[in-house]
Amino acid sequence: MNLDEKYFYIPDSTDNISFLTEQLFRQQTQSWQTAADNYKGLEKVKARELDINGIHFIVQCNPERIRSSSAKVDAKSISERKCFLCPQNLPAEQQCIPISDDFIILVNPFPVFPKHLTISKLQHTDQLIAKNAGTMLDISAILTDYVIFYNGPQCGASAPDHLHFQAGSKGFLPVEKEFAEMKSRLPVHRYKSVEISFAADYLRRMITLQSAGRDCLLETFSEIYNILDVLQPHESEPMLNIICYAGKDEWIMHVFPRIKHRPAQFFADGDGQLLISPASVDLGGVIIAPRNEDFEKITGESIIDIFDQITTGKVEFEKIMHEITKLK
Ligand SMILES: [Zn+2]
Repeated sequence: MNLDEKYFYIPDSTDNISFLTEQLFRQQTQSWQTAADNYKGLEKVKARELDINGIHFIVQCNPERIRSSSAKVDAKSISERKCFLCPQNLPAEQQCIPISDDFIILVNPFPVFPKHLTISKLQHTDQLIAKNAGTMLDISAILTDYVIFYNGPQCGASAPDHLHFQAGSKGFLPVEKEFAEMKSRLPVHRYKSVEISFAADYLRRMITLQSAGRDCLLETFSEIYNILDVLQPHESEPMLNIICYAGKDEWIMHVFPRIKHRPAQFFADGDGQLLISPASVDLGGVIIAPRNEDFEKITGESIIDIFDQITTGKVEFEKIMHEITKLK
């Protein structure tokens, strides 16, 4: 296929990509019916707020997300479907902006955020973060109105075979504000001008890296990745979700170590079933319930239980913290 047909605009080094992305967003939500309908639908989705021991959650009832929440990501199912992120398989109306030699910005037609993007690699290559964390930092420095997030291949990515990030409007996920509020109370370790803080009592376990330095941030991430990797030698990479954004003069990167893809409720029958498949957005504080029955039914207790099953346990997290604080 001729990729040029898919390009909304090819920026040069002087172009403001944030501005172009806003134009792409406007164009796609005006002239691509699926995107237009789903962004309009998003304004009417039901949402309710939950306070669990002082921690804030929003539950969003979003039927269009059923594809992602229930996506089959086993090797056989993946090999039998056409990859929906490969440029030749994109819907005819979908356009993109190239942001480097090998990544493109797309409007996500099944939004959770008021503005929701997918940033995917042009080539079909596995979803793995080890060599791509730098790209994530670079994207967040370009798209400063967005948080950038990464779902590991067994942690919510619906295309585990095609490297991609997503981006959503800043200020939407409770974790941004909550982290700023709780930061002064968290234990902190400093390594190579990176501040590493540990949130062990946030229902989910969270390690946050903050720094203005790209290289030292990547080096620190790599050290933490290796510590997590040792604990899960049989996975293609340690199970994790990442939410990253650029502040005024530094990057903030939240890493959520995981131990499980989906909770028992996902596979339960009848009344016990909750079709909740947690990924970065959920760990950021917005729980996505594609089915109305789950939206109505879910309680603070079930969220505590789901997070308890999927995130690294307290004892394991203490070990991880201990290993990280040995970094000098
Ligand atoms: Zn692909």
